[in-house]
Amino acid sequence: MALDSARQIARTALELPADIAPAEAFAAAAYADQIDVRFATFKDGRGFSLAAMLRQNGYEGGLRAVGHLLPDQKDALLRSGFDTVEADDASAPARWARKGAAHIYQPDPGAPQGRHSALHRRALAARKARADALAQELDGADPETILARALEVYAGRIALLSSFGAEAALGLHLIAGADPETPVLFLETQRHFAQTLSYKDRLVAALGLKDVRVLEPDVDEAAREDADGKLYERDGQACCELRKVRPLARGLEEFDAVITGRKRYHGGARGALRAVEFDGERVKINPLAFLSPDEVTDRFKALDLPSHPLTEIGYASIGCLPCTSPASAPGSRDGRWAGEDREECGIFDPALEARARRAGSIRLI
Ligand code: SF4
Repeated sequence: MALDSARQIARTALELPADIAPAEAFAAAAYADQIDVRFATFKDGRGFSLAAMLRQNGYEGGLRAVGHLLPDQKDALLRSGFDTVEADDASAPARWARKGAAHIYQPDPGAPQGRHSALHRRALAARKARADALAQELDGADPETILARALEVYAGRIALLSSFGAEAALGLHLIAGADPETPVLFLETQRHFAQTLSYKDRLVAALGLKDVRVLEPDVDEAAREDADGKLYERDGQACCELRKVRPLARGLEEFDAVITGRKRYHGGARGALRAVEFDGERVKINPLAFLSPDEVTDRFKALDLPSHPLTEIGYASIGCLPCTSPASAPGSRDGRWAGEDREECGIFDPALEARARRAGSIRLI
């Protein structure tokens, strides 16, 4: 890249002056996952316009305002398209250090609910294009390569989702080795086996995971929709919506990408898993997708990872107690919702976005 006013500060990170020509900035953005826009003076409005134009042009990587800025400019900067703001003044108040700003860009709080703005639609299209390109690059790669690239591209905007089930230790070990500060999301459905909860505590301590977030069903929704605690008997899908789909939607609000432990050998729709997928709103990273059952077993042994206690009595895939039975073979998911006409709880279903929107749990702009 030969751009006079752009300064390469890392392989995929650039610093641009606030007064750079838009065309030059767009060309630079094509090569960057992270852009810092440097304000020489807080009076320079061109940096605000530059951020908005980059977002409108489809850039959806990290965008940070740096330089000579004032604290009361922060909200306007975030609304312009920046996702973080960093003033030069080292004594700037702690409120500058906002972490995990909302994905894509800060929405206009006055925008009507239930509709994507044109800007948001363009940003989603850019996110999909980025995910498709990453899938092309990473399909078939080993777990370490897929994870490292995902952490690089979605830095600060990515979390791992774990069931702390039969195969979960592998993905958790992977993330602990790459970055133990990565948020780990656990869906506390309040229907887990006691062994899962104790295994979770054991793994978190053993692997040194620093940011495990427990996502629970909303108390009022649970009282209203599952007063007797037996919704799973009457309508399992509704129970999963209450205890998994909606809590996860709330937990993911600050993230653009989520790492899963799914593998192709799980079968069903997972048989065609890609390394990176776009679900209409967020990106799913599947670093373990291409492992075979033998490779999973070998890795468990080589790493000396502790097993979930229920695997010793035939549970190969472990979810909630009422909906999980021993499986017919190692690696099989046929013990999940046995006797029901479904293979998934809904959190990985392509219809997730539509269902969650109906439930009012994802605020669209
Ligand atoms: Fe409810 Fe079963 Fe779904 Fe758990 S897996 S949330 S108990 S229906």
